[in-house]
Amino acid sequence: MNVPTVGVFALQGDFREHHRMLRRLGVDTTTVRTPEQLADVDGLVIPGGESTTIGKLAHRFGLVDPLKERISEGLPVFGTCAGLIFLATDVNGSDQHVLGALDVVVERNAFGRQNESFEAVLDVKGLDEPYDAVFIRAPWIDKVGSGVDVLAEIDDHVVMVGQGNILATAFHPELTADQRVHILFVDMIT
Ligand code: GLN
Repeated sequence: MNVPTVGVFALQGDFREHHRMLRRLGVDTTTVRTPEQLADVDGLVIPGGESTTIGKLAHRFGLVDPLKERISEGLPVFGTCAGLIFLATDVNGSDQHVLGALDVVVERNAFGRQNESFEAVLDVKGLDEPYDAVFIRAPWIDKVGSGVDVLAEIDDHVVMVGQGNILATAFHPELTADQRVHILFVDMIT
């Protein structure tokens, strides 16, 4: 593959920041809002935003089955925050649309009101130096399936995982200058 094209799922959420970060890393990016656009990408980012809205719109625009299919065929996918929730198997206390691609159960808005947004320094598996992570109304991962690799935790709560072709963070790597988490993802494509 020459320069890969990464699709950024853009139904709702902070997709612009992902384009910016990925382009800085030298990959081409394109917007994904339709099954046709999804068919053409070498990797996909599902951004943060509001997971119930992303799920509803994906359902309405006929994207749920094409997404499930491409992910199960091995398309590298990176979900951040609401993107992680949308990838999950289950969401505690909610029957919102999810893809069921990532074998985790998530708890939305898990860090509570007093902690709507905060930064935390994490030890991330695969990164040599600590990583300063930005959390915004973030979920945590309550249960992980046996094929899921826990990549970072905060106070014993799982906030970053990998599972085959899927990478997911409860935090927002696109909102900081540190490119290392996006590099982990790009390395999954190339
Ligand atoms: N709280 C949002 C949700 O449940 C996620 C927040 C985010 O993506 N920053 O979908």
